[in-house]
Amino acid sequence: MSLPDKSQWLCPNWNPHPAVRVCVTTRAGDHSPKPWHGFNLGLNCGDQPARVEQARHHVEKILQADHPAAWLWQVHGKQVIRADAQDNEADGVWIDQQRWPCVVLTADCLPVLLARTDGKAVAAVHAGWRGLQAGIIAEGVASIAPNGEPVSAWLGPAICGQCYQVGDEVYRAFTENRPAFKPAFQKDATPNHWRFSVAHAAIIELAQLGVDDVHGGDLCTACDLSRFYSYRKEGETGRFASLIWLDGGGQ
Ligand SMILES: [Zn+2]
Repeated sequence: MSLPDKSQWLCPNWNPHPAVRVCVTTRAGDHSPKPWHGFNLGLNCGDQPARVEQARHHVEKILQADHPAAWLWQVHGKQVIRADAQDNEADGVWIDQQRWPCVVLTADCLPVLLARTDGKAVAAVHAGWRGLQAGIIAEGVASIAPNGEPVSAWLGPAICGQCYQVGDEVYRAFTENRPAFKPAFQKDATPNHWRFSVAHAAIIELAQLGVDDVHGGDLCTACDLSRFYSYRKEGETGRFASLIWLDGGGQ
C-alpha cells in the first residue's frame, strides 16, 4: 500500500492571481483496491469510509492548509456553500479566507475552478450535465463575485465530447430555451443521441456570465484511465479531487 506524493498530481498552468493555488489529484498510488484502484477520495462510491478518510487526511497533510478541506456531499444540484457552512450537501464551495481548500470530487463530471482576479475569493464547482443545466456555474460565480468583479476559470479533467454519448432529453434540456448551447452537441451515429462536450457547454455558460478568461478543458477522464477515474467507462470506480485555495501570505 502506498500513498501518492504531490509530484504525482496535476498543477494546472493557470495563474489568475499569485495568491491562488490549485491542485488536481490523480489515481497514482496504491491505496484502494479494485474497482477504486489507485487513490480514491470519494465516500459515496462503495469504497471503505475509513480508507477514504485516510486518503483525505493525506491530501490535507500534503497541502499544509490551516483548515481541513471543505469536502462536499455532492448531489448534482446547484447549491454553492461557503467553506465554513455546517451542512455540506452541495455541489460547489467558495471561500474568501486564507489556506482553506475548496474541493470537488469527480469521475467524468466537470470540475470548474473559479478565482477572482484580485485574489480575494475562490470557488470549486462540480458540474455534471444536470448541475450545469440547473445553473451551478452561475451560482459559483455569484458567490465569489457578487458585484461583477472579474473572474477567471479553469476547467478540469472531464469526459470529452467524443466519449460522452447522451440522449435527446439532455439536448432538449439545454437547447429548448437556450439555443446558444447547440454547439456543445454533435449528432451521434445512434438515432436520437448526441455527443456532448461538458467543457464546451461550460465555456458557453461562462461567456454568458461575462467570464471570458477560461483555461483548461482539454483533459478527458475516459480517454486517460491511467490518471483519472471515469464512471461512464468503468462503472463502479473512485473519485479524484480538484482543489483551489488562497495563500497570499497574510490572513
Ligand atoms: Zn475522451
